[in-house]
Amino acid sequence: MLKKWLDEANYTVVFTGAGMSTESGLPDFRSSNQGLWRQKDPSEIASTDALNTNVNEFIEFYRERVLGVKEYLPHKGHYILAEWEKQSNIQSIITQNVDGFHQLAGSNRVAELHGTLQELHCQRCGKIYDSNEYVKKEYHCNCGGVLRPSIVLFGETLPEEAFQLALSEAQKADLFIVLGSSLSVTPANQFPLIAKESGAKLVIVNQEKTEMDLYADQVVNDRKIGELLQELNISI
Ligand code: NAD
Repeated sequence: MLKKWLDEANYTVVFTGAGMSTESGLPDFRSSNQGLWRQKDPSEIASTDALNTNVNEFIEFYRERVLGVKEYLPHKGHYILAEWEKQSNIQSIITQNVDGFHQLAGSNRVAELHGTLQELHCQRCGKIYDSNEYVKKEYHCNCGGVLRPSIVLFGETLPEEAFQLALSEAQKADLFIVLGSSLSVTPANQFPLIAKESGAKLVIVNQEKTEMDLYADQVVNDRKIGELLQELNISI
């Protein structure tokens, strides 16, 4: 079914979550066996409160995450999506991921709803730095402000440009494919519904059930994303 819809669609938008990158080796947040949040309480550490009141623990947590992302690479599935964009088989990617793997694999039209761990910026003056500063244990800007990852923390709003791109892409889509998201984070999880309401077919590929499954035209629970994309890639 998905193969046929991919062939027929004029405007396909892919929406990815942490499950897109587990086959690269990066753990997701909510899987029952090994999700990241099992080890730490997100609202305590990944928050503006922690940045303001507990900056050492905040930096320690994010240095580990920056190093974690640098240990891994995009997998075959990321490269297939980048190739599909070049061939106009898909038009864009909306991602909740902060690993930057879609761009590393060559995708260009990517709305990073939750920002990126590949970049830091000064909390005081906004100057942008490469995340290698954290690797080198450099945590301050020339102005004296704290360097923080350019991701959306609990207590912050989504970046306006990424949000607007995601909104217009969801509205334009006639096929909207979710890959590896529990669809439990608001407002990101509204985009599949916006696409559906705007007339798109909705496909959810996720190893666990999601609350949005009832709105989907097809749900795939029994496939790994990387394997499924490789199979579709052969027949496309
Ligand atoms: P999530 O952890 O809530 O859900 C991931 C889902 O992917 C799970 O339901 C799991 O069953 C499924 N999954 C895992 N591996 C899969 C595979 N190989 N094939 C098919 N399904 C698979 O993640 P989410 O919905 O993206 O939301 C959590 C938040 O986590 C987001 O805000 C995101 O920014 C953040 N996050 C990002 C990364 C990353 O950038 N790689 C990693 C962890 C968390």
